[in-house]
Amino acid sequence: MKSILTSALLASTAFSSVVPRAGQKVDYDGFKALRVTLPEGSENLKTQIEDLVAHVLNPGKKELDVVVAPKDIAALKALVIESKVINEDVGAALKEEGEFKAYAVPSESWFTAYHPYADHLQFLRDLQAGYTSNSAIFTLGNSVQGRTLTGIQIWGAGGRGSRPAVIIHGNVHAREWITSMTTEYFAWQLLTKYASDANVKAIVDKFDFYITPIVNPDGFVYTQTNDRLWRKNRQTVSGNTCVGRDINRNWPYKWEVTGGASTNPCSETYKGVAPGDAPENRALSAQVNTLRDSRGIRLYLDIHSYGQYILWPYGYNCNLRPENNAQHQTLAQRAQAAIRAVSGTAYTIGPSCSTLYATTGSSTDYTDVTGNATYSYTYELRDTGTYGFTLPANQIQPTVRETWAGVLSMFKDA
Ligand SMILES: [Zn+2]
Repeated sequence: MKSILTSALLASTAFSSVVPRAGQKVDYDGFKALRVTLPEGSENLKTQIEDLVAHVLNPGKKELDVVVAPKDIAALKALVIESKVINEDVGAALKEEGEFKAYAVPSESWFTAYHPYADHLQFLRDLQAGYTSNSAIFTLGNSVQGRTLTGIQIWGAGGRGSRPAVIIHGNVHAREWITSMTTEYFAWQLLTKYASDANVKAIVDKFDFYITPIVNPDGFVYTQTNDRLWRKNRQTVSGNTCVGRDINRNWPYKWEVTGGASTNPCSETYKGVAPGDAPENRALSAQVNTLRDSRGIRLYLDIHSYGQYILWPYGYNCNLRPENNAQHQTLAQRAQAAIRAVSGTAYTIGPSCSTLYATTGSSTDYTDVTGNATYSYTYELRDTGTYGFTLPANQIQPTVRETWAGVLSMFKDA
């Protein structure tokens, strides 16, 4: 782990092109993804494993999915009770993600390949340009490296800013590429179907949508230039060589609670030095606060991968439930059924801490309590670990379509 990250780190300071360059990126050929089972009470062991592996893919769980170099596999197996190979060759899986395609004006074909960051911005601008009377580009603030957090606002018959807000964030974790494609598909559907689909018209007339497909642009670019499996932002830590805060452990609500994030700057879930000390997080919480104080927030969606979950508060305490827990559950059950009806894809639903793992300083706890959102959900999209974050390009359309069915159901019910 250390040697890989150090070399990636050195390379990262030299350039910031969105086009991956040969020889600069971490090479995962021959690396395996393993699902390992740890003995009870194994916090020290977790740290040892973090030091040994290239990445922990699902930090927080008891069964860890990890990516490990061939030379370290034996050492890893010696540490754990049980291990199962979930991907024989992570490098080969990366190649199945497909090549970037040249950018074309927005069309359904956008959703057949992954894209460089600059093209994502162009997609939003071009989409907005086709629907100037009921959409606008907005910005929330800047990332550590000065990239602008860019989104699209969509409204209906009531006019701009006249309805309760639906806030949607994508790609807060840099390696979760399917999530920006999916949130863009929501915007695409809302705008292109407004005139022709009565269901879509009804929901666009009911809400103001604020969709930001990539809220961690620095991390996203870094996954394209240096390390495909990078998760955090690209913020340095004083006195430490490790880089990055987990923006979804940095929200200023219950940030100080222990057990749901890491205080180690080298960890995948490093929470930062103080609540809200990641500039990306400040931009996001300011958006939540502003919309809370204007028309109010009806629904907040934070789109992640992977695991196939729909989760709601709380993350910081496994015994607490929101006041409207029953309604959260009803909406999630209907979304789960809508997804299954499209493709058969099975989602697990429930309150996040008790269903998946504890998280502190996370988005949905903040939007529920501080943002006073009526509904707050985290989606974890496809798959359940086979490809993990590097879902092949031929799964983009099936994923965005089934997820659209799920969120459309929520938009109707909310
Ligand atoms: Zn995530």
